Amino acid sequence: MKVYKGKTASAGIVTGKVFFWEKQNFEIEETKTENPEQELERFRKARECALKQLEEIYQKTRKSAGEKEAEIFSVHMLLLNDEDYMQMIESSITEQKNTAEYAVALAEEHFMEMFRQMDNDYMKERADDIRDISERVLSHLLSRQQMTELEEPVILAAEELTPGDTVLFDRSKILGFVTRKGSENSHTAILARSMNIPAVIQVQAEKDWDGRWMILDGTESCIILDPAETELKEAEKKIRQEKEREAYLVSLKDRESITLEGRKIRLYANAGNVEEVRDALTNGAEGIGLFRSEFIYLNASDYPTEEEQYKIYRTAAEILDGKLLVIRTLDIGADKKVSYFDLPEEENPALGYRAIRICLARQELFRTQLRAILRASAYGNIAVMFPMIISVKEVEEAKKILNEVKSELRDQKIPCQDIEIGIMIETPAAALISDELAELVDFFSLGTNDLTQYTLAIDRQNQQLDTFYDAHHKAVLKLIQMVIENGHKKGCWVGICGELGADTTLTGWFTEQGIDELSVCPASVLKVKDKIIHG
Ligand code: PEP
Ligand code: MG
Repeated sequence: MKVYKGKTASAGIVTGKVFFWEKQNFEIEETKTENPEQELERFRKARECALKQLEEIYQKTRKSAGEKEAEIFSVHMLLLNDEDYMQMIESSITEQKNTAEYAVALAEEHFMEMFRQMDNDYMKERADDIRDISERVLSHLLSRQQMTELEEPVILAAEELTPGDTVLFDRSKILGFVTRKGSENSHTAILARSMNIPAVIQVQAEKDWDGRWMILDGTESCIILDPAETELKEAEKKIRQEKEREAYLVSLKDRESITLEGRKIRLYANAGNVEEVRDALTNGAEGIGLFRSEFIYLNASDYPTEEEQYKIYRTAAEILDGKLLVIRTLDIGADKKVSYFDLPEEENPALGYRAIRICLARQELFRTQLRAILRASAYGNIAVMFPMIISVKEVEEAKKILNEVKSELRDQKIPCQDIEIGIMIETPAAALISDELAELVDFFSLGTNDLTQYTLAIDRQNQQLDTFYDAHHKAVLKLIQMVIENGHKKGCWVGICGELGADTTLTGWFTEQGIDELSVCPASVLKVKDKIIHG
């Protein structure tokens, strides 16, 4: 037996036989054609087949895993329909007389490099998508089979898996993934988590593992190859315990989240779209404590209209059926960049033009969003929350605009409610003047991701700083304490919607400090509830 350490992409433990999957070699040599017309025809046909296949995969994934997971394949279809991509291939065939295969390979190289050069991490990841679509077209040109039919459930080992690879396998036959490459935020890791399949990445997987037995422990970030009888018994025990734990957590779904001391903690979830709102309810959340509205903008190719936003907010509110929906107004900027906003290049984007700063400077955007939120408020229990606040003046201005929009709607006889107003406390400035800010709002929500970043001067995007990052740093905990105290003095309820809210080693401390609400990712709701109820 041999133990290999890696990184967890998706937690959970499984045992099974390894299937080592080798990616097909799509290295294409430079080749010319004497019949460009025919090559053009071949390329067009292959592209059509690839598009058809993608549509099928998209529909299949949408049904089995949901819209969010299927989205990647609609992105692939968009890329495959991209004018520049197609034009480059077609002119390479007609003008340079390259074969269809070579023209596709050249375009792949060109566009992958272009995406890799981009500043934005999201755009950099698109390079993988270009490879995916190009290989899909190549596989049709070369008439290659894309995936082996699996006959029995296996642990899939590979150099790397793209979302396109993963979906072609029959999921019921995949026990887990282990790959040499990959990052925790890659699409494959996200898919593994949403499929609830354990996955360990950055392990030196080898071809001769094929057919051998393995324990894949996504919780301990390791794999054991050729495990001994005792290790297998141990793993089986862990699997049983995990199953029991899951069943136990599900049994808490309808329990009230009340501490041993008898204090009610509102247990909400964070969501970025309507599907996650549904997920939150399935996992027993009592409301949405943070609806990241910027994802509506990130998923669009142009400014979402009032009507488009209104429909989304209204649907979310209706699904929640009276449970609270806290909509955070646009938090674009920093790492969340949208091309159509034409945001300036900045030296320090996290300290730059973002969130409420953009909304107050470009009020037409802000008013459109507020109109949509207020209109939706007639159909559920909605609250609004402003991000990245640092001053009293900003809150006063934001509230003034909100009131103007409300009056305008009332003049137009459009129904809307008097909704609760909150702010995110995610800058040390806001925490330090939280006594004054509390006079202006109904609630505070601590955004501990940014609050930690700004308090410790540690860029939350920079992996190199992992060792310096201390989520329990006293400075952050002191600010949290101060905010709860100041909020309560002025009658505000105070919650946490940053990742720290799901850290169960702090749940007891939060409740001792008097926290009123915790908003965590849907998958963490029951784990936090257990801690609240049982201490
Ligand atoms: C936070 O900063 O803690 C927060 C919840 O906001 P985001 O992670 O979206 O910046
Ligand atoms: Mg934040």
